[in-house]
Amino acid sequence: MTELKNLKEEWKAIMSCMGCGDCGYSIRRAVGRYLTCPVKESKGEEGFEIYFSRGRMNVLKSVLEGKLPLSRELAEFVYQCTECANCTEVCHETHNENIILNTSKWIDHYKVWDALRKDLVEAGFAPLDRHKDLVDYMNNDAMKNPYGEDFAKKFEWASDFSNIKEKGDLVFFAGCTMPLRQQDTLKNMMKILIASGMEMALSKDEWCCGSIGARIGEYKSVDELMKHNLDLFKNMGAKTVFTACAGCYRTLKKDYPELLGEELPFEVKHITEVLVELLNNNKIPFKPEEGEKLKVTYHDPCHLGRHMDLYEIPREVIAKIPGVELIEMKRNRKHAWCCGAGGGVKSQFPDLSKDISKERIREAVESGADILTTSCPFCIGNFRDGYEEIEPEIKEKIQVIDVIDFIASKLK
Ligand code: SF4
Ligand code: SF4
Repeated sequence: MTELKNLKEEWKAIMSCMGCGDCGYSIRRAVGRYLTCPVKESKGEEGFEIYFSRGRMNVLKSVLEGKLPLSRELAEFVYQCTECANCTEVCHETHNENIILNTSKWIDHYKVWDALRKDLVEAGFAPLDRHKDLVDYMNNDAMKNPYGEDFAKKFEWASDFSNIKEKGDLVFFAGCTMPLRQQDTLKNMMKILIASGMEMALSKDEWCCGSIGARIGEYKSVDELMKHNLDLFKNMGAKTVFTACAGCYRTLKKDYPELLGEELPFEVKHITEVLVELLNNNKIPFKPEEGEKLKVTYHDPCHLGRHMDLYEIPREVIAKIPGVELIEMKRNRKHAWCCGAGGGVKSQFPDLSKDISKERIREAVESGADILTTSCPFCIGNFRDGYEEIEPEIKEKIQVIDVIDFIASKLK
């Protein structure tokens, strides 16, 4: 029997699950019958208990009671969860606001899944194969990114911009996904900032934030990465660090202080928080509005929305773009359907990720939107992969575009 050190700390949360099943599907006034767990739904007829929160909690009760050991087989199920936290939202609210159930309001599902993943890693049943590769790449001195690319490649995009400073109050943390997979979006971000007269610093020695390590419960590597990045920010004189990646945002703003046990000596912002200030001060020079308004819908990345409560600022940004009518998908804000990429699912179970993203693209089309936008390179990458495989009649109705690219397309 393994030690179960982390799971034991969550025993009250696990035991308080009353088995209502809302985390499978629920009824909410705002959205009607509301499918909650993207993994359960994507599994279709195979979407048994183990694929959503209620079944997972039951399994964990048996694990804590010593009836079921941790195992590699169990890990294969456990990691088929995007850690989207949609189950937490429904678990914490009853279907009728006048009914107060004395049950599960304080289950933090993310913390339970995280504890389980940590124990699986400590017991040697995880990381799973692909996750292990990513952690190895992250720890490799010639890489320091989970994509297995050369370290220097991450900064190639920046060579076009001689105005990027080495030190300063405002530091940009580029992360790994955009510099290695979506360089054009980073270049577009620079065009917007330059057109707005904004200056920023970037270190060409930043390492991966460690998000993938934290999400899969492999925290040893996160510690080293975090300390390195925090030293960099300090030496650069950072008062604010901003990032265009929802995963980096959560890791820097939430995980780093929790791991350190103290506040960070600088503020962490997401790019949409930077953009909204520029827009409010009329600093972004747009082309004049022409033609009919485009209907644009916004997908809430889980790492911005449910994980960090950043729902309205990205919407404020989009609503201020000339020629845009912002409309909502049926499941939005805290009810938003996950894109399918998080929690290490994209790397280890790519088909599951794509399935979930296709469902979200279809939902965007149902809303009547011409454009599905979001502000996370991970969501964008997964939507693009889903989009490639989706029915042509869906494809022709909608485009998928990062908020940054959309704004850049409207610059004077
Ligand atoms: S909604 Fe909460 S209490 Fe109900 S089954 Fe799911 S985890 Fe348990
Ligand atoms: S976190 Fe998301 S994917 Fe995981 S069990 Fe909850 S609803 Fe399902």
